[in-house]
Amino acid sequence: MTPESWGRIPRLRPAAVVPLHWAEPAALAGRAAPILAHGLGRSYGDACLNEGGTLLLTRGLDRFLALDEAAGTLTCEAGVSLAEILTLVVPRGWFLPVVPGTQHVTVGGAIANDVHGKNHHRAGTFGGQVRWLELLRSTGEVLRCSPDGNRELFAATVGGLGLTGLVLRAGLSLRRIATTRVAAESLPLRDLSEFFAGSAESDQRFEYTVAWIDCLASGARLGRGILHRGNHAAGPGPLAWRSGSRLSVPFELPFSPLGRLTLGAFNALYHAAHRGAGARAVEARGFFFPLDGVARWNRIYGRAGFFQFQCQVPPPAAPEALRALLATIARSGQGSFLAVLKNFGAAPSPGLLSFPREGTTLALDFPDRGERTARLFRELHAVVADHRGRIYSAKDAHMSPAQFAAQHREALPAFRAQVDPAFSSSLWRRVTGG
Ligand SMILES: Cc1cc2nc3c(=O)[nH]c(=O)nc-3n(C[C@H](O)[C@H](O)[C@H](O)COP(=O)(O)OP(=O)(O)OC[C@H]3O[C@@H](n4cnc5c(N)ncnc54)[C@H](O)[C@@H]3O)c2cc1C
Repeated sequence: MTPESWGRIPRLRPAAVVPLHWAEPAALAGRAAPILAHGLGRSYGDACLNEGGTLLLTRGLDRFLALDEAAGTLTCEAGVSLAEILTLVVPRGWFLPVVPGTQHVTVGGAIANDVHGKNHHRAGTFGGQVRWLELLRSTGEVLRCSPDGNRELFAATVGGLGLTGLVLRAGLSLRRIATTRVAAESLPLRDLSEFFAGSAESDQRFEYTVAWIDCLASGARLGRGILHRGNHAAGPGPLAWRSGSRLSVPFELPFSPLGRLTLGAFNALYHAAHRGAGARAVEARGFFFPLDGVARWNRIYGRAGFFQFQCQVPPPAAPEALRALLATIARSGQGSFLAVLKNFGAAPSPGLLSFPREGTTLALDFPDRGERTARLFRELHAVVADHRGRIYSAKDAHMSPAQFAAQHREALPAFRAQVDPAFSSSLWRRVTGG
């Protein structure tokens, strides 16, 4: 089967697909350029695709190499998934300091997109937890990179879209937990102003905060939703991890069942179910990875697939920009049941092209309805550009070359100097023409 991204579109065929086994310096020998690594395909759009090139499947780089409990560090190969790490370390009382909304991503993928989690305001990005990494270049050289050694290459590789070479291994920081329970609360939000007020207050007291927004609500209810917040609970308590899903979507549907009526009903039900859910202890797995409960949920969008939109807007402009974005989405009637709103903190990201920056981020899915959807993305991108915001490359297959150049203007020359000439991706060619 041709490797896909999570949105299942665009459908772009590589010329060669090469499964790798364990990390070794000969992994790139004889591979035809352009080359790109492909982890678990959890990025959307074309970030993990390489039309006409060589796609290296990294899941075979799957060895754990060292767990140093005195130092709180783990060394593993880059194809190991965060789910596998949690399965190993949670029963010993450790957790990953930064996790995205799914545990089914590889270490290499988490580094290449410098992923963020619900605690960005406290912990920054995944790249900040990478003590060092080993990078295989197409010359056959293996370079150890860290914030202290080969610094420029480290900064280009973290958030570097897989373009600086193949990450073979990494040394990661871990953090202590006493139990897998999370002390969680859900606050109903009547409108967008309640999101900004609720987030500001919650970010002071809670390590993890994220809001779910009903994208069909408009007028006085624009931005209505639920703010989820939580802290790792104090122990003692259970310390177990289960990474599998109980449910799965077994095949793709010939059409997307997610019309305006079904979305509206889902949103109303969800809102009612969480209204006023006060303090409670919940399992970490459901709190951090609610979508992992249903395996292959990306199939519910039908054969046409779906796109994701994710942007960030800096603080002074954020309320106005979010109002304009949500109003545009509500008017279009195309939004999904998944709209996530979160404030990023001020910690600088370690990667030259890392997406997170202080401000507010909005993410949601759109079933592909052809030109109607493309037009909506153009409108949303115009709002983002007007407010000096940025688009997440790993999520958005519509970003224009002009937007990419504008949002990375300062970092691009230093980044290009570190790109491995044999590496490229469909995303890179689309946004740079190179
Ligand atoms: C349900 C869901 C929730 C998500 N939530 C979040 C979130 O909260 N925050 C967030 O930031 N992201 C989130 N994401 C996106 C996801 O975390 C990233 O796209 C991540 O990079 C995917 O990792 P992967 O292993 O699947 O990599 P792939 O998607 O296969 O590849 C992504 C990039 O990594 C590169 N790459 C992979 N392995 C290597 C390697 N060994 N060496 C060099 N480059 C490599 C690829 O070339 C590509 O450029 C979410 C995705 C889903 C599906």
